[in-house]
Amino acid sequence: MAPVPPPPPGPVHQFIAGRRALESDLGGSPGPAHPVLNPATGETIAHTDLAPLRAAEAAIRAAAEAFPAWAARPVGDRCQVIFKYKQLLEQHFDELAAGIVREHGKTSGEAAGDVRRGIDCVEFACAAPVLLMGRTLPQIAVSSSFCRTEDKSGVGIDSAVDRVPLGVCIGITPFNFPVMVPLWMWPMAVACGNTFILKPSEKVPLSALREVELAHEAGLPPGVLNLVTGGPAVAEFLITHEETRAVSFVGSTKVAHHIYKTATAAGKRAQCMGGAKNYMVIMPDANRDAVIEGVVGSAFGNTGQRCLAGSVAIAVGEAAEWFIPRIREAAGRIKVGPGDAAGCTMGPVIDEPSRARILGFIDSGVQDGASLVLDGRACALPASGWFVGPTVFDNARPGMRIIEEEIFGPVLSIMRESTLDAALSTLNRSRYGNMAVIFTSSGYNARRFKTHAQVGMVGINVGVPAPMAAFPFSGWKHSFFGDLHANGEDAARFYTESKVVVTRWM
Ligand code: NAD
Repeated sequence: MAPVPPPPPGPVHQFIAGRRALESDLGGSPGPAHPVLNPATGETIAHTDLAPLRAAEAAIRAAAEAFPAWAARPVGDRCQVIFKYKQLLEQHFDELAAGIVREHGKTSGEAAGDVRRGIDCVEFACAAPVLLMGRTLPQIAVSSSFCRTEDKSGVGIDSAVDRVPLGVCIGITPFNFPVMVPLWMWPMAVACGNTFILKPSEKVPLSALREVELAHEAGLPPGVLNLVTGGPAVAEFLITHEETRAVSFVGSTKVAHHIYKTATAAGKRAQCMGGAKNYMVIMPDANRDAVIEGVVGSAFGNTGQRCLAGSVAIAVGEAAEWFIPRIREAAGRIKVGPGDAAGCTMGPVIDEPSRARILGFIDSGVQDGASLVLDGRACALPASGWFVGPTVFDNARPGMRIIEEEIFGPVLSIMRESTLDAALSTLNRSRYGNMAVIFTSSGYNARRFKTHAQVGMVGINVGVPAPMAAFPFSGWKHSFFGDLHANGEDAARFYTESKVVVTRWM
């Protein structure tokens, strides 16, 4: 008997008011669909509805209705749910990591890192009782009216500022950290007393849906956290809706800027994290093993699909002599394959358009005259899925596309400079300002670098200076639009409004 074919991959559900639903369940007709693919095989595993506008409206309504009761719950009670959620994430750790490997293509180790760093944010959200404390200043003035006779100096007036939740908040997330980036946003938002609608990337909605479902198993009341799939039409609808108070966005610079302008023009507060082009400066005095380990992890980890990926290495002075042969050798040893294959150290890129874009960058580097030291097009790659091998250019120069634009793939471009100051002025030309890294054994060089690099996150002998959840994720320039960043105390301030109270008791 012929084997029974598997059922066709179904649509990804919405999660609204505490339960899964499809657009058709809500009386709407499904919009155009985007396939959710396994990048290691090319297999379609589900379909995302790109424009479920009934679902988006229902999610806003559910979030608006849930807000008063949720905001009135004591912050300690709200955090109890987040504590339980942290436990559930630990219990479902392997399942979540396996889901990331399947729909994103990361290696198993990278997927575990995605979940672990996400859990860090959940733990940090449990600090909401401390982060929400207001401030008081007694006796800001004295009133002589309504004075009791015994109170000769008048009636004291006190003042305080409270931090109060905003209402309905929106989160729009990219494909490259399917579990962690949503966890940058909603745990702190709901711990602060807000309600939330998450619109994950149409490329990786399944991990986000599971994350939201588990939050309800932990006891989050219906409507406090909702998920709506979709593309630009849904994002636009959510961020401009009259009930929406705040918008958190993470994605490419072009979209981040557009979302920032649209949201703020509609009167919403917005924090929009964008793309990056990150530099790593290699000084001749650096610990060579630490350089190679750090640069390989930064440039090729997550297949270069990280906003903290080191994309350009500047070899200063004689560092080029040892750095270039050693990095070529180390990058050449990377084992490319499906993320859960034994020994694999680099997985596929997300989809065919990404692969084509990255190959186009490699072609442009060759045409612009950079020297191809390691050609990711030429190595042995799996036959199915979207793979690009690790690629290294030497003699890259300003003006080349491989230097000016974010590649978001496993391509490292090496530039050469004669001094640290020349390296600093090269990297400071960039329109992006996410992170920059120096490898050196000189405290003087490290301090000079930290002081003068025009970026929001600095690494000193560290390839990926990712802030832990207690610190803000601090991009600058075209890597960030807004004032208050994700994570850290910034997040608690972003998701709350200040309310000043001036008090006089007669
Ligand atoms: P993307 O900008 O294509 O998409 C991000 C989100 O925006 C998705 O949910 C998508 O559906 C939505 N979107 C796309 N076009 C839109 C439009 N015109 N209007 C409204 N919404 C729209 O980004 P991506 O390819 O998913 O992610 C990769 C990018 O994210 C890279 O540039 C990377 O550097 C950046 N990123 C930045 C950070 C950071 O903290 N700075 C972190 C992770 C990723």
